[in-house]
Amino acid sequence: MKAIRKFTVRAVLPEPLAALDELAGNLRWSWHEPTRRLFEHIAPELWRGSCNDPVALLGAVDPARLAALAADAGYVARADALRDDLRQYLDRPRWYQGLTGDKPAAIAYFSPEFGIAAALPQYSGGLGILAGDHLKSASDLGLPLVGVGLFYRAGYFSQSISSDGWQMEQYPLLDPDGLPLSILRRPDGSDVQVSLALPDGRTLNARIWQARVGRIRLLMLDTDIPENPDDLRLVTDRLYGGGGEHRLLQELLLGIGGARAVKLWSALSGKPEPEVFHTNEGHAGFLGLERISSLIGEGLSFNEALQVARAGTVFTTHTPVAAGIDRFERDLIRRYFETDLLPGVAVDDLLALGAENYEGGSPDVFNMAIMGLRLGQHANGVSKLHGEVSRRMFKGLWPGFDPADVPIDSITNGVHAPTWTDPELLELAQDRLGASDTSTADWASAAVTDHDLWSVRGRMRLQFVEDARRRLRSAWLEQNPGGIPPAWIDQVFDPNVLTIGFARRVPTYKRLTLMLHDPERLRALLLHPEHPIQIVIAGKSHPADDEGKRLIQQIVKFAADPELRTRIAFLPDYNIAMAQLMYPGTDVWLNNPLRPLEACGTSGMKAALNGGLNLSILDGWWPEYFDGLNGWAIPSADAAGDPAERDRLEANALYDLIEHQVAPPFYERNADGVPERWVRAIRHTLATLSPELSADRMVREYVERLYRPAARYEALLSTNDYRAARELAAWKSRISAAWPGVAVTHVESGGVVSVPQVGDELHLRAHVQLNGLSVRDVTVEVVYGKSLAGDDLSDVEVQALEPDGTPDPDVAAGPSEGGGPTLFTGTVELDRAGAFGYTVRVVPRNDLLISSAEMGLVAVAS
Ligand SMILES: *Cc1c(COP(=O)(O)O)cnc(C)c1O
Repeated sequence: MKAIRKFTVRAVLPEPLAALDELAGNLRWSWHEPTRRLFEHIAPELWRGSCNDPVALLGAVDPARLAALAADAGYVARADALRDDLRQYLDRPRWYQGLTGDKPAAIAYFSPEFGIAAALPQYSGGLGILAGDHLKSASDLGLPLVGVGLFYRAGYFSQSISSDGWQMEQYPLLDPDGLPLSILRRPDGSDVQVSLALPDGRTLNARIWQARVGRIRLLMLDTDIPENPDDLRLVTDRLYGGGGEHRLLQELLLGIGGARAVKLWSALSGKPEPEVFHTNEGHAGFLGLERISSLIGEGLSFNEALQVARAGTVFTTHTPVAAGIDRFERDLIRRYFETDLLPGVAVDDLLALGAENYEGGSPDVFNMAIMGLRLGQHANGVSKLHGEVSRRMFKGLWPGFDPADVPIDSITNGVHAPTWTDPELLELAQDRLGASDTSTADWASAAVTDHDLWSVRGRMRLQFVEDARRRLRSAWLEQNPGGIPPAWIDQVFDPNVLTIGFARRVPTYKRLTLMLHDPERLRALLLHPEHPIQIVIAGKSHPADDEGKRLIQQIVKFAADPELRTRIAFLPDYNIAMAQLMYPGTDVWLNNPLRPLEACGTSGMKAALNGGLNLSILDGWWPEYFDGLNGWAIPSADAAGDPAERDRLEANALYDLIEHQVAPPFYERNADGVPERWVRAIRHTLATLSPELSADRMVREYVERLYRPAARYEALLSTNDYRAARELAAWKSRISAAWPGVAVTHVESGGVVSVPQVGDELHLRAHVQLNGLSVRDVTVEVVYGKSLAGDDLSDVEVQALEPDGTPDPDVAAGPSEGGGPTLFTGTVELDRAGAFGYTVRVVPRNDLLISSAEMGLVAVAS
């Protein structure tokens, strides 16, 4: 019999244990080890079985056990002390409170997924985990940030593997009552809901779940409510479940519904409304349109409202893979917005924001990333390399500029250290180094001996091996209900063998099966008589991606070989709980994407925080941080002609590295049994990478480089009833209208003789047709650098030319009036030998532009 409805009855705790309720209700337990131990102590087996979820645990535990604990004065005191600690954590000023100068009073952070704890499976991979880590560090640092997402009734999916190695997906329904969530209500107890007008006079309604993530509130919209017709109740059924219209409905809800939800939440909680809106990838991009609509309601035009919305919006792009970008049929967008959804916003204005009206674009498509860039004045990629790749990828929006000028910055991702560092390592840092966390510990100190480090690493490896066996056993039992798991499962992995980890989503570019390129070679590495390796693999393929499922199947089949199955295994259902044991338990973290398609990659960072060494293609974060001691770089064969040849070269490089450089030092032991060279690398990794890779570093950078500037620009535009926004909109349309007639008509140079030498000066006189614009509207600049083959410049520098004080002798009328050219002059010092080239260009100038390329307008001398 199947239940038609399910709910969880929350336990009524004995009075002395009231603190547990408060502790369970704040997800800070997910990264606070003492609180986790407090819950675990109630019922260790249940704790593991309930995905480490205190709310579920308290609902399931035998009341007699609770009664016994209530009578245990020591336990009660510990619970009370931890509750007091939580309260202090929530109340005391933190880093953000100590910042001087202007800073945003509130920031809203939108993401389609949030990976906070295994108990709340609202994530599919790196994007979601990053969002979870962002909230956690924002909490630790005291940011006034509110998270906005959707509540997916079935989350992503849970994965099992059939006997022939095929991925199967299950969608167990989540019961929000069994999770640390509460409904956002008005003081009279009624639910707060948002509603969105849909085509054909229909309405989509959503209620709002709130999760407490330390100091941060996360709002999650949920359409599974009686106010919606059945089909609309399913809008938030699954993460990335449907395509086309289903996806659009989710994104409308996230962006537009989310922005409305934040407003309601701010009003109800007495918090200021956000000044900065951060969208984690393009999926939430419609939020900018909602803001434009409400500004239009205050009396601004579309273009004026656009200036304000842009100024306060931060857009983070996460993918250099075209398939990773949402694109909708233009007609579908038209149909959805020719409604009352966004009062005051004309559909054509809106369509223009997502139009691919550049070389190579498609006219029938509405592109969410393009809209994200047009609606967000502040944009970034997620590693230095990804910043470069993004500037190239989107340069069509800034025609005439070099990729380096494209206004997309980068902030390299980080990971939340308290979540991702093993408690054993944390304990070592606290006990021996007196550090409060691993990222600030002085790992170079002799207070931690090589032997200490090596034995902690060994315990973490053992703990992981045991967990892997447990998972394989229960997967086997699922496939063979009532059977007895075979004995070999208890021999899977050897706690003393060099362990390599590879776990991530399975899109093609991550090349799950590169290691299988030469199966015999891999077999020899696994079974090497002196330095064997073992490999653990995990990852989910998108349910619609059969190609990915075939890759998993190849791994599973390879690992089924009786000779190899204790040395290589695929663990089904990769998730946060598995990952938290896997990163600390593996010695080497392998990453072999097709460069440069991995935007950042964070799993290797999590390994490094635990002293794992990375073995990776120089992609994502690795080129920034690889230093020759903290791991190995797999050479990329970017230049190889065809993909198969590239795979072959890179796979062989990988095998060679493992055989000659990775495995031998692991087994090179001193009299104490410690591999000194290896431990040196561990120590070096912990000392140098821990602070750099932490999400605290990342969130601080977001504050300084994006949130504060965004708040500043937004405030500048908004004061005095949006006066500057109105002026900026008028100025931009005047510039755009005049621009086709702006030109550098003639450039004269002087100063250098026939054989120029370092130290000579180049005097430039540029005649510029301003087409009615004033000299204050533009910057005329000389762009110069090394001139290589072709006409391209490299090592480019830019220097402004000044309007010449004296009227141009060749021109009767004065500067900028009457249609004649205006003279700009300047001097460049030739400070480098070698081939030199320059050009002159005109760009718009306004203090409210963050970059002279922002408008995508330039006139270059020809
Ligand atoms: C960190 C993490 C990811 C992302 O890893 P990448 O290296 O960015 O692919 C995915 N899933 C889980 C469970 C993680 O913890």
